[in-house]
Amino acid sequence: MVQRVVLAEPRGFCAGVEMAIKALIWMVRIFEPPVYCYHEIVHNEWVVRVFEKAGVVFVNEIEEVPPGLPVMLSAHGSAPQVALDATERAAIVIDSVCPLVTKVHHEVRRMSKEGYDILYIGHREHDEAVGTMAVSPDTITLVTPEEGLADFRPDNPRRVALLAQTTLGMHEWGAVHDQASEQFPHLWTARRSDLCYATTNRQSVVQKMAEYCDLILVVGSENSSNTQALVRVANEMGAEAHRINRADDISEDWLEGVATVGVTAGASAPEHLVQQVVDELSPRQGVDLAHVTDEDEYFPLPRQLRVFISVLGQTVEAGLTVPSSDWRHWRMNDRAWTATEALSRVTV
Ligand code: SF4
Repeated sequence: MVQRVVLAEPRGFCAGVEMAIKALIWMVRIFEPPVYCYHEIVHNEWVVRVFEKAGVVFVNEIEEVPPGLPVMLSAHGSAPQVALDATERAAIVIDSVCPLVTKVHHEVRRMSKEGYDILYIGHREHDEAVGTMAVSPDTITLVTPEEGLADFRPDNPRRVALLAQTTLGMHEWGAVHDQASEQFPHLWTARRSDLCYATTNRQSVVQKMAEYCDLILVVGSENSSNTQALVRVANEMGAEAHRINRADDISEDWLEGVATVGVTAGASAPEHLVQQVVDELSPRQGVDLAHVTDEDEYFPLPRQLRVFISVLGQTVEAGLTVPSSDWRHWRMNDRAWTATEALSRVTV
């Protein structure tokens, strides 16, 4: 039987996921179903299922959105052509891209304009990498953490920039960065890499937990890049680690001879799934925390959506619409409600 559980702090929802989930909840409230969403709003199967029940249809191609209906673009960032096609096809387009992904898109544009060849470290086929590469396909070369630079040959070795997917493992980014710096001494890269605060904070706790936990469980979906990175970071530190969707996925074999289990969650995994894992483990000596930092990042809702919410407010005030009881609270203070709270209302 497990003696102790160590819970990572921070874990779970980041500011970008909070914003994207709340934005899609507003879409479901404002518009009649179906509401379309290009790509999974965030990479978590539970969250996606809840939205599907609420009338959201997730699509992989903009052509699947019936003309004239509203569409949301996911948190991972979309290719410029996708955003353009969506604008031409849909009645309303709300882009819930995380501002930290947008920052990388800006870097791609700027460095391309300045004549740099860009090395982009990312995972082939991941939504974020696909969207970022499409910003300037002629000047970007994808390098995976596994393959490294391979046979990359820039036009001018003095003008090479290194950018990255926001959710890579820190050690993976570091390895490619070292290789690229050695090969291209004038390498340009973002001051603190492109890995986002949520990625680095969650990985820092896992590094700490790996020093004294016998096993680390990471709650999150298979297609969640930052979740998979947490498992790799734990493995890199020499710890046994497994990704699980939910408590049911814990294998008895993993727990054999294990006294202390570290539990964390990727940036798109809801907290109640973490709590169910802790309940399932029911540690004899209780639960401790592994804390590295407090997070207070907040990203406001997409600007286009804020305009709609404001217009809706005017129709309510004019007596044309009757709002739900929590509507005014949500509208007046977006910081006062969380995605977890909002999701619990959707599931009721
Ligand atoms: S993991 Fe980082 S980049 Fe991705 S949505 Fe969260 S804050 Fe944004």
